[in-house]
Amino acid sequence: MLDHLTFTAPEPKIIQGAKQDWELVIGLEVHAQVASNAKLFSGASTGFGAEPNSHVAFVDAAMPGMLPVINEFCVAQAVRTGLGIKAAINLRSAFDRKNYFYPDLPQGYQISQLYHPIVGEGEVIVDMGPGVARRVRIERIHLEQDAGKSIHDMDPNMSFVDLNRTGVALMEIVSRPDIRGPEEAAAYVSKLRQIMRYLGTCDGNMQNGNLRADVNVSICAPGAYEKYQETQDFSYLGTRCEIKNMNSLRFIQAAIEYEARRQIAIVEDGGKVVQETRLYDPDKGETRSMRSKEEAHDYRYFPDPDLLPLEIEQAWVDDIASSMPELPDAKKARFVGDLGLSEYDAGVLTAEVENADYFEAVSAGRDGKISANWVINELFGRLNKEGLTVETSPVSAQQLGGIIDLIAKGDISGKIAKDLFEIVWTEGGDPAQIVESRGMKQVTDLGAIEKAVDEIIAANPGQVEKAKQNPKLAGWFVGQVLKATGGKANPAAVNDLVAKKLGQ
Ligand code: ADP
Ligand code: MG
Repeated sequence: MLDHLTFTAPEPKIIQGAKQDWELVIGLEVHAQVASNAKLFSGASTGFGAEPNSHVAFVDAAMPGMLPVINEFCVAQAVRTGLGIKAAINLRSAFDRKNYFYPDLPQGYQISQLYHPIVGEGEVIVDMGPGVARRVRIERIHLEQDAGKSIHDMDPNMSFVDLNRTGVALMEIVSRPDIRGPEEAAAYVSKLRQIMRYLGTCDGNMQNGNLRADVNVSICAPGAYEKYQETQDFSYLGTRCEIKNMNSLRFIQAAIEYEARRQIAIVEDGGKVVQETRLYDPDKGETRSMRSKEEAHDYRYFPDPDLLPLEIEQAWVDDIASSMPELPDAKKARFVGDLGLSEYDAGVLTAEVENADYFEAVSAGRDGKISANWVINELFGRLNKEGLTVETSPVSAQQLGGIIDLIAKGDISGKIAKDLFEIVWTEGGDPAQIVESRGMKQVTDLGAIEKAVDEIIAANPGQVEKAKQNPKLAGWFVGQVLKATGGKANPAAVNDLVAKKLGQ
């Protein structure tokens, strides 16, 4: 099996300042909404887009006397995610209160896990092209509650609060500062999203804010990062700024680019970068200061007295581990190793779990490369053009498989297969039946093909003379025969016969 141990690391991105070269150091805190029907500590629905304040249990609204009850499914989802990034699962974790005021936080604190997160150290392999990948270390994943939503733009004089999201489970996935450029940061978020979508632990919908990232950026002189790697001493790195709440891959990259240049300008001017939290303004394409960086102690974290430490059993973790689906890296490696696909094609087919499932249904019992060509070039090409996905595809995996079978059997040529695809796309139906009822079957009857070849030869004595001088002109006869038979003559048979008849 092609192993991800074989990759080489990409070069870090270099940015030229006015005075010297600089490198980037990036660490991400990704907030992923746990895919679960109910919230982390209440039975209220997590459904998106509902009437404001319609999915709020008493405990979500922090009514007096209400107590949180942990949702076992959310814990299982966090464990599953941890296993998906090869992380250590902590059998004992605990919830802490992170205290702050915000109108959409009725409790006055967020329940989170500071001291004892449920998931410890893991890693994510971030693909940066064939054979090139970055290993990004994960420091931890902890479970926490989401806050509600304040709405400021509905009324000129009032703000509104919607508590539907209050208490929804989030996984905060904290990376080490191992990301070395804007493209890598985007690729890292994509990879995490892909893994979680394969696992079914987060739907990855960034537009809805179900996956968003705080992006920490610092700059350093070339060589400094290597010293940090050797020693794990953060003092080799520059002071970081944190760009909050990014929910677009494009904006993440743009914000990092901007932020790096801003920091370089400060440092080259003799100034110092101030550690702070910044916001990215997509309209202006710049980051601006939101608040000075707060520290953990500012939040007066303490263990939540309403919740016992969370203890899970190894057997339960093993059970989850045994029901894990095949993950993207393994699937990609299998497509390359077992089906002979190029790494590029395997990457395209495994990018989205639904696409991979579709491809697997098509390629089951069929030639992998031929199936991949059809799925990528014909199907995906067409779906893209029409703004559809495999889920809304008019051609099912079974139908596409049927088309490929007809080619394999020699019933239709590749060219006719494209016409057939078009018919199935627009009209639906069983490919084999369509071929039968519309007389699209390829002529493999050598007698019939020979007759057509003879006719063309007899009708074009001049061309025959030329072709005898120049064997390349045989192609012209092949073309004529294919035309005369409406593209249904088996091209290989035509080639053979033409060559024979022309005495080649
Ligand atoms: P805090 O709790 O104050 O936010 P963390 O240690 O949790 O600090 O770090 C938050 C994020 O910042 C992590 O993803 C980490 O990798 C990243 N980070 C830490 N130091 C740097 C740095 N010098 N440059 C870029 N990112 C950094
Ligand atoms: Mg943090």
